[in-house]
Amino acid sequence: MKASEATQRYFQEAADRLGLSNSMQKLLVTPMREVTVQVAFIRDNGEIETLIGYRVQHDNSRGPMKGGLRYHPSVDLDEVRSLASLMTWKTAVVDLPYGGAKGGVAVDPRTLSRKELERLTRAFVDQIHEIVGPDTDIPAPDMGTNHEVMSWFRSQWEKYHGFNPAVITGKPVEEYGAKGREEATGRGVGIMTSKMLKRLGRKPQECRTAIQGFGNVGSHAAKYLHESSMPVVAVSDVSGAYYDPEGLDIPELLRFALGNKGSLEGYTGAQKLPADELLYLDVDLLIPAALGDVITAKNVDKVRAKWIIEGANGPIDPEADQALEKRGVLVLPDILANAGGVTVSYFEWVQNRQHYRWSLDRVRQELDHTLSDAFEQVWQESLQSKVRLRIAAFMIAIRRVQRATELAGM
Ligand code: NAD
Repeated sequence: MKASEATQRYFQEAADRLGLSNSMQKLLVTPMREVTVQVAFIRDNGEIETLIGYRVQHDNSRGPMKGGLRYHPSVDLDEVRSLASLMTWKTAVVDLPYGGAKGGVAVDPRTLSRKELERLTRAFVDQIHEIVGPDTDIPAPDMGTNHEVMSWFRSQWEKYHGFNPAVITGKPVEEYGAKGREEATGRGVGIMTSKMLKRLGRKPQECRTAIQGFGNVGSHAAKYLHESSMPVVAVSDVSGAYYDPEGLDIPELLRFALGNKGSLEGYTGAQKLPADELLYLDVDLLIPAALGDVITAKNVDKVRAKWIIEGANGPIDPEADQALEKRGVLVLPDILANAGGVTVSYFEWVQNRQHYRWSLDRVRQELDHTLSDAFEQVWQESLQSKVRLRIAAFMIAIRRVQRATELAGM
């Protein structure tokens, strides 16, 4: 299923519960601006390469728009449009003073040299610099882009507009980046897990957890949960799943991955299973933190976890989501569960604007505070409106965007 179809379905379900008029629904789903640009640059061999870049600005009623830049072959207008609207709902559910946007270039960055990547990035900025800025639209890293790309982006944008590091977030810490940004999404998943267990009246020690993906999100979530005394019994990456019913030694796995280019390939401290088997283990909590669409109508019956926290974007498709609801499996949705990253991006932007640096402790405290508040609001909405957490999150987000739109007047 296309990502845009899933977002549209959840939006529709929540909007119907809110009794939103058709005209308001149309206004809220229609992107404010979509830009498609030519991105031309010189390859190392002297040839001209011409690619297509996109920036979709979905909604700015609650503030400047925020959303990542993706370099991936699958990038097209439909994908970027869907991710831009998801950012509107994500920033709204966490109550950041932002709207939603997304952008990208259809390219496999692994086929480019570092110099080519830099030239591509600068060419892309040349095309979109007029529509992004600290008060209008603030990009950030996403699939295929990193802090280095953010630095080039900022440097090129500043050639036109002058010094202003708040134009982009996810910058290197030594170049106006925020401490704690790298761990933020995984840490946020951990914070959400602790909040949910408290609400369910369960002790962390009783929550046997499996995490799919041991990259940025999965590894930091594993670290947080391990430090919170939660037995993480399985983790996986592309090389396979690693399982110990007594609980994995997470610090050892982190050390292993660090010394092995981030991979778990060759780890012998646990039982090795095929990667997908992790999804079907007999655990209390499952955290898919790798890819989209990993739980679908085809395999949902095999999933045995009681609770699922979506670390990745869109790991459960709408059919599977319905099946899980029928079975009483509690799902904490991506727009809330993985919002830690954009929250610390917001803190980075605030620090840049204040020309003041926060300590790591302060970043962590504020993150905890922001996400805990958002979790509590979604939990209460779910109880009051008798809807699953995903629809409660969308309802809160839509209500906020609707209110801001109405307050601004037509
Ligand atoms: P990453 O590239 O750092 O890590 C991805 C991990 O998934 C790797 O360990 C990889 O080996 C593993 N993986 C890939 N295919 C797999 C498979 N078939 N089975 C098991 N593991 C597999 O990516 P990330 O930044 O951790 O992002 C993970 C997900 O979280 C993505 O959906 C991303 O969109 C989402 N997300 C990330 C952030 C962030 O700040 N990094 C924020 C919000 C959402």
